Amino acid sequence: MSEGDFNRAMRHHNKKRKLTAKQCQQCGNDDIRALQVVTQVTLCAECRLKLQGKRPVEDHHPLGRRNDPGTVSIPANDHAALSDMRLDWPEDLPDDHPLSVIVIGLLAIRDLFLYFADRILGWAELLIQWIRDDQSGRESWATGQAAP
Ligand SMILES: [Zn+2]
Repeated sequence: MSEGDFNRAMRHHNKKRKLTAKQCQQCGNDDIRALQVVTQVTLCAECRLKLQGKRPVEDHHPLGRRNDPGTVSIPANDHAALSDMRLDWPEDLPDDHPLSVIVIGLLAIRDLFLYFADRILGWAELLIQWIRDDQSGRESWATGQAAP
């Protein structure tokens, strides 16, 4: 186990100890990176924002706030996960070295690929379930009618 893997495992272990449930008590999301306790209730970042009457998106700094002021609006749970992944970036890169921004860009791209690779698997599993539902005679996702 690398030092980064160990630090991440400890960070997530310590966070789990603070939660009041293992998943969001509104939607069931169980990504530890998105979960937080709000008045003794465990919620994901998106459900917390919805409960506060806000849109479930946050501004994300793709290269880190320290490196670039540019932001993009992304779903809050994605933002929480990507921000957590950023905690594993090296902290000792000099701001004034020309290669530092390239390293940060490469790490940001790596994080996006890793994060969306997990999401893509979830989308594939959802589609597989829809295909099985179609074949079992349950209501079709495509037509809204039961399969013949
Ligand atoms: Zn939720």
